[in-house]
Amino acid sequence: METDALDRVESAVDARAREMQGVFTDMLRIKAVNPRMGGPGEKERAAFLEKFLRGNGFAVDRVDVKDGGAPGGVRPSISAKIGGKDSGRNLWYISHLDTVPEGSRDLWKTDPFEPVVRDGKVYARGAEDNGQSLVASLFALLALKEVGAELPFNVGVWFVADEEFGSDYGIKALLEKGLFKKTDLVVVPDAGTPTGSDIEIAEKGLLWMKLTTEGKQVHASLPKKGLNAHRVGMELALDLDRVLNGKYTKRNRLYDYPVSSFEPTKVEPNVGNINTIPGEDVSYFDCRVLPEYDLDAVVRDVKATVRRVEKKRRAKIRFEKVQMESAGPATASDSDVAALLRRAVSAVTGVKPRFTGIGGQTVGNLFRRDGIPTAVWSTIDDVPHEPNEYSKLANLVNDAKVFASVPLLAV
Ligand SMILES: [Zn+2]
Repeated sequence: METDALDRVESAVDARAREMQGVFTDMLRIKAVNPRMGGPGEKERAAFLEKFLRGNGFAVDRVDVKDGGAPGGVRPSISAKIGGKDSGRNLWYISHLDTVPEGSRDLWKTDPFEPVVRDGKVYARGAEDNGQSLVASLFALLALKEVGAELPFNVGVWFVADEEFGSDYGIKALLEKGLFKKTDLVVVPDAGTPTGSDIEIAEKGLLWMKLTTEGKQVHASLPKKGLNAHRVGMELALDLDRVLNGKYTKRNRLYDYPVSSFEPTKVEPNVGNINTIPGEDVSYFDCRVLPEYDLDAVVRDVKATVRRVEKKRRAKIRFEKVQMESAGPATASDSDVAALLRRAVSAVTGVKPRFTGIGGQTVGNLFRRDGIPTAVWSTIDDVPHEPNEYSKLANLVNDAKVFASVPLLAV
């Protein structure tokens, strides 16, 4: 029975491969650059998909989040689903409608908003991030409906706004509305590897901090008259490096980089000439912290170190959080969503995926923070935001088969 349903749903996806390619390229032609990155937003693309879903017999839920900064004043997210036996539980595929801008046009070999199909690949801005997964999940849903297979729970898709700029008008708003349940199974197909070998079940917490040291600017030949903010800033950076990397040493082998990282990164230019002692020093740290640790504890240690250097050097130092997103708990590898997804990938592609953790963050982290088990997976060459971004049509078809197979394996 199970194998039969799997075969039928895979054939249904194959039968629609051409149509899928058409919807994919039509959608990519509709510009959906995030309004906060100077684009028109998701409105037109959402309308196109809503029409397509309705045309295929689906009821469409639409959530418009008000955003005065967006053309039309709202940011749309849309959803459709098929009912299953347990109508109180949902398997959701969550992908995003918005894209980043094209970047330098000169670096593109083709028009980023006029999709080109060549050698089995579709080239366009947003083809990989997140168009491929969006269309793959859409056609998985169509195939399941067409085959009429018995589903253990509801299966649905969400196409959401604002992923590329913090998700305030997308997933964060939807989570606040209580549209997802702790018993739901959530798949976020917005990261992956070229063979589909990794199912990501954990992310790290993120802290970006800015440190501004104030000293006193003087001629470089008279250091006693001033206070070299650059020297104090360097001392602070080295102290923070030592304190944080020395204290937060837990290892977690799930992650490719198995420890937390605390990296001094950007520094702002100070004086324009060599013979002046800088009166101000501004530098930044990028911190990626394992979910085993509380980010507030890291912040307390940063503040204590800042105070110590301040006192010792009689400088004024300001600490600012540029961004702080704590990590939700890792999704268990034997949770329904992780285990079913792994079986589906194996059944469709023959690849036996491993479970991994990453230092970056996807919207998967927002679900995990709300206690909803979430798996992040797709088959991509990993070229998001690059010029000449592309998606392989074979991945589009195979990922659609995997998505359609997940609920069938739970029967
Ligand atoms: Zn993305």
